[in-house]
Amino acid sequence: MAAKERFAMRIDELLGGDKPTLSFEFFPPKTDRGTESLLQTIQEMKPLQPSFVSMTYGAGGSTRSQTLELVGQLLNEQGLRAMAHLTCVGHHADEIGAILDDLWAKGIRNLMALRGDPPVGQSQFVVTEGGFAHADELVAYAAQRHDFCIGVAGYPEGHPQCLNRTRDLENLKKKVDAGADFVVTQLFLDHADFYRFREEARGMGIKVPIVAGIMPITNVNQIKRFVNMCGAKIPHRFLRKLEAVENDSQAVYRLGVEYMTNLCRDLLFNDCQGLHFYSLNKSQPSIEIYRNLGFEHMR
Ligand SMILES: Cc1cc2nc3c(=O)[nH]c(=O)nc-3n(C[C@H](O)[C@H](O)[C@H](O)COP(=O)(O)OP(=O)(O)OC[C@H]3O[C@@H](n4cnc5c(N)ncnc54)[C@H](O)[C@@H]3O)c2cc1C
Repeated sequence: MAAKERFAMRIDELLGGDKPTLSFEFFPPKTDRGTESLLQTIQEMKPLQPSFVSMTYGAGGSTRSQTLELVGQLLNEQGLRAMAHLTCVGHHADEIGAILDDLWAKGIRNLMALRGDPPVGQSQFVVTEGGFAHADELVAYAAQRHDFCIGVAGYPEGHPQCLNRTRDLENLKKKVDAGADFVVTQLFLDHADFYRFREEARGMGIKVPIVAGIMPITNVNQIKRFVNMCGAKIPHRFLRKLEAVENDSQAVYRLGVEYMTNLCRDLLFNDCQGLHFYSLNKSQPSIEIYRNLGFEHMR
């Protein structure tokens, strides 16, 4: 199989195999310096042979076209199996259709289909006229347009706008029924939340692979902000340990790596089908966690 064909492979062909998938998420940088740093990160992560990498899609502005360009480069120039994120924010269906055609023409076969968060300064998600209100509509549209392998977001602690976790799982089921092939979870810091979510999802008939979203921790204020935004929580004992060293960046880093290594180890021992690292365009903590797990390479 030619290298390009191999890397265009659908992610669901790897999921459910004998090994868990291990993957990284990047975001499109806003500056030239950010782009340089991302390229450096990619070079450092490539030897690990990640199962796949993904590129997020911004709430608006110029980074959106960057996502489409960079995801093509990850596949066609870096030889990495790449997944493009896409959201419904600010797009009507025809625009989404054109983006999907562009991705398909670039060779991208993997899509993370999301509703998206409102742009900065806007508190509520507003449906664009002629666009989609929820991710399940985007999934159905994308699946009908091209034969993408489609991932969707899942929320172990519930989506912040859905006060009822059962209702949130029913909404996740709608995305799977619309054609999603796998789920990647929001960050969580207590493995019990993941196991409960997985069990309840299975109980509801969601059979597709569920990949755990892993957020390396390097800064106490940053992780507090992230959990706050996405409705997750930091387990109390771990929070106390973090706060005890919050002014010592090295100690926070070491504690974060140790905690996330233990979390990942537990997940893998309990048959988690994949770990997706929210790398924040930095290689170091993800690589260190991965090495601690004892993998020779990711795939
Ligand atoms: C792995 C991952 C990757 C992400 N990548 C990005 C990214 O690249 N760019 C970005 O902007 N954001 C990204 N996000 C954040 C995401 O956009 C937000 O969490 C957003 O608020 C919800 O997106 P969703 O796709 O889960 O939406 P949906 O699945 O549409 O859910 C949104 C809310 O609506 C409810 N709901 C869902 N379907 C229905 C329905 N049919 N009827 C009624 N209610 C419904 C849900 O319960 C939930 O409360 C990502 C999140 C994750 C976990």
